[in-house]
Amino acid sequence: MTSPLKSSFVNGAFVEPSGAEQILENRNPSDPRDIVDRFARADEQLTHVAVEAANAAVSAWATSNPQLRADVLDRIGSEILARREELGRLLAREEGKVLREAMGEVDRAGRSFKFYAQEALRASGEKYESVRPGVGIDTSRQPVGVVGIISPWNFPIAIPAWKIAPALCFGNCVVFKPAEMVPSSAWALAEIISRSGLPAGVFNMLIGPGRSVGDALMRHPLVKAISFTGSEQTGRQIAAIAVERMAKVQLEMGGKNPLIVMDDADMEVALDVALQGSFFSTGQRCTASSRLIVTEGIYPEFIARLTERTRALKVGDALDASTDIGPVADAKQLEVDLDFIRSGIAEGATLVCGGERLVREGGGYFLEPALFVDVTPEMRIYREEIFGPVLSVLKVRNYEEAFAAAEDTPFGLSAGIVTTSLKYAEHFKRNSSAGMVMVNLPTAGVDYHVPFGGNRGSSYGPREQGTYAREFFTRVKTSYQLS
Ligand code: NAD
Repeated sequence: MTSPLKSSFVNGAFVEPSGAEQILENRNPSDPRDIVDRFARADEQLTHVAVEAANAAVSAWATSNPQLRADVLDRIGSEILARREELGRLLAREEGKVLREAMGEVDRAGRSFKFYAQEALRASGEKYESVRPGVGIDTSRQPVGVVGIISPWNFPIAIPAWKIAPALCFGNCVVFKPAEMVPSSAWALAEIISRSGLPAGVFNMLIGPGRSVGDALMRHPLVKAISFTGSEQTGRQIAAIAVERMAKVQLEMGGKNPLIVMDDADMEVALDVALQGSFFSTGQRCTASSRLIVTEGIYPEFIARLTERTRALKVGDALDASTDIGPVADAKQLEVDLDFIRSGIAEGATLVCGGERLVREGGGYFLEPALFVDVTPEMRIYREEIFGPVLSVLKVRNYEEAFAAAEDTPFGLSAGIVTTSLKYAEHFKRNSSAGMVMVNLPTAGVDYHVPFGGNRGSSYGPREQGTYAREFFTRVKTSYQLS
């Protein structure tokens, strides 16, 4: 039996499909025979309708009672948390993250809404004394207006949540376009938001392609701010469009995050941190550590034990509780991963283990985690973002070489070190040019209430999350008054 056709959410209602739309089939990467949902795709015309609906709702929502905003956000957060298992299953089924991680992601989404429920009530203005007698000055934060939100496929509910919650909290209206690979979690989130008490038009969601719907959203003159997470290539295009029409823009893009393992590292900590950061979530995290930089004293034993642990990882269906690593997200990404593996071998790196597609009944996109040694810094596997379970190890002599290697990248999202030395830990935290630095922790895995973001090719514009999100989702107004 085919499931009912789902659709976009515009101006307070799910759009009734006309029958003329293109159909999007959302398939399970663990078993592509399984269709999770079918969607009627939005087009440019519906995008314009959504932006106009959001714009019509701007002034009432911008001046709404903060208690109303707090209550709405709190209700959304509570429902997400209460449905963590069901939403986690849906996420694991459509994206391939294992259930444990998927439920963790759902928790994070719920907590983000709860955080911004509190933030809606936080005082945000300041008073100043003027240099002129009798004059008072105050600054206040105003909403930006209509915000366009574009999200990637690898965090189907957490990334939308950490953008939508602050946008609504600070009085903006939202038009949200999720990645087409993961529309079901986005639809579930929109359905929860639709029952939260928001006025019509304040929140809209469009299920449709980036090159048409995403592009139309970015170019619409009524969209005053654009928050994007995705690839560097799309991010650059969006930045150019935004700057040209002077819209605010915030981009979170790729990474090639280094993890240094020092001779003095605790071996068990180093193994856990390396495995978790490199292979979990099938390596499909912008903060994954796909470059390991290991000093020569610990190298032989560390590589031997890492190989053993990598071989022991169980690759399988994301919904099977015994699975460590789920499938790659789709056939295209699997081909990208296999292409990088072939290029690593062709460039002379040694594939110690993994790297083969695993053929299972159902045709899921399963890939054995791949571990490369004898890697040199010019190799593609070491320089470019892969976004899969492929790890390259570079051997170095000492901390100075390790630090220089870690910095040798056009990206700057997350960087880690495993060491028991305070001297190295302190130097690394102080001098790393990444936006997020981890000591004895995986490069991936961050809290929801503190700033998130990177430098150089990884991020552009103000930080996301925590109280820092205010910077992007508001404008500052300075008022002068003669008393
Ligand atoms: P992508 O750039 O292909 O797509 C991201 C979103 O942009 C999707 O919703 C897509 O439909 C839309 N899009 C595509 N072309 C567009 C256009 N011309 N105009 C407007 N929108 C358009 O990225 P992806 O493959 O979905 O995600 C993987 C990438 O995301 C990786 O590079 C990864 O590192 C990055 N990522 C970064 C972070 C971070 O916080 N830094 C987090 C997660 C993922």
